[in-house]
Amino acid sequence: MPGTSSSQRCILAVGNTGNGKSFTATIFGAQNAKIGNSSKSETDTITVYDINGGFYIDTPGFDDSDEDKDDEGTVRSIYLKMVEKEIRDLTTVLWFVTPDTKAKGSYKRQARFIESLAKYHKGNVWDNTIIVTKGNSIENGPRDAAREIAQKENNSKDDLLSKTRDFMILLFESLSPENIYVEGMFTSDKLNKYGVFKGSEPERILARYESLMEGHLEHPICLNLRKVKCFKCSEETDPRLASPECHPEMESFHPDVEGVHRGNVIDIHLSSHYNKHPARYVAATTRQKFDDSPQAWTVRVVSFGIVNPTRPEFVSGYWECCDNHDANSSGCKQVYHCCGKDYPSSGCQNIYDECGHNYGGTPCLTICKDCKKKSDEEGCKVRCKKCRNDNPYNKKGCDKVPHSFPN
Ligand SMILES: [Zn+2]
Ligand SMILES: [Zn+2]
Ligand SMILES: [Zn+2]
Ligand SMILES: [Zn+2]
Ligand SMILES: [Zn+2]
Ligand SMILES: [Zn+2]
Repeated sequence: MPGTSSSQRCILAVGNTGNGKSFTATIFGAQNAKIGNSSKSETDTITVYDINGGFYIDTPGFDDSDEDKDDEGTVRSIYLKMVEKEIRDLTTVLWFVTPDTKAKGSYKRQARFIESLAKYHKGNVWDNTIIVTKGNSIENGPRDAAREIAQKENNSKDDLLSKTRDFMILLFESLSPENIYVEGMFTSDKLNKYGVFKGSEPERILARYESLMEGHLEHPICLNLRKVKCFKCSEETDPRLASPECHPEMESFHPDVEGVHRGNVIDIHLSSHYNKHPARYVAATTRQKFDDSPQAWTVRVVSFGIVNPTRPEFVSGYWECCDNHDANSSGCKQVYHCCGKDYPSSGCQNIYDECGHNYGGTPCLTICKDCKKKSDEEGCKVRCKKCRNDNPYNKKGCDKVPHSFPN
């Protein structure tokens, strides 16, 4: 794609363990790269090193040389790592090989792997590939294997590796004292000409790489990886790399409901008040009263006081509370029918002022505890209709349906 260029360099190292992938990472400025024979678990993982101006991705060694093994999963893992680091494109593929006439199978597998890196690239991945051969003689096994794979995968008869460069490198420090390059006491310039480099002069190795990588940064292997978040689930990656599961359909709901009454609790009397005499009415009577008439006195004198005449006297009825004599008078006090308490006084019943129901009675309304809306109104939260997960945006999908990625 002309005009496309990455601002960042991203080098991908492919090849068997022990061919210099990790050492080369340090040449490009990677800190704490593990060099030498690392354990199986370390070589199985993909490591992304920060280097000057970009990244260096160390891929798992293809140490089992099973030609037919499918490395689709590894490619995907590399892409996912790139998305995570927000790397969009690959600038250079370094293919580390060791001359070995018996290694054709593993060369083919590695070549197929490199070819598959170009899944989203319209150009030729081999234009950005450098075959790094451990040794000081170019051996065409890897190149031939790659050419075969590239022609097959691209349905082409052209030599797709015409722009693929070679770098043969032999580490001076790994040579025996009798080796001609050690005994010869050559200058570094001369040694480098023969592909012999000193580990103590990493800047020379780097300079060679830089010249071989010319043009790669301007014309990278365009993967255009982007990192986007699905609107419906937790997936955040390049849409092409997304897992096949999302949430199918959303629905709104209220997380928790409760029964309530409407209004505030107030106290009232259930009935009106009336007039009443709180005490009893004492009925009218007659009583015998001392008779002080002259005739009565005569009787007393004659009977020597044995006979004491009396006369009846009328006593009218009255209300004990107010001494009102009228039996039919309206009461002297005002009280309520419902409870008999004085008027005015605080109510004998607690009710809700809006719905009018008794305090403590069965609720007449179901509302959401969170939003306080009626439970049959549109919910205040969203969940997946299928898995009913109430936080679907942050959870993995539950069904094989397409994601909703932003464009
Ligand atoms: Zn779901
Ligand atoms: Zn609600
Ligand atoms: Zn109510
Ligand atoms: Zn009274
Ligand atoms: Zn009352
Ligand atoms: Zn999704």
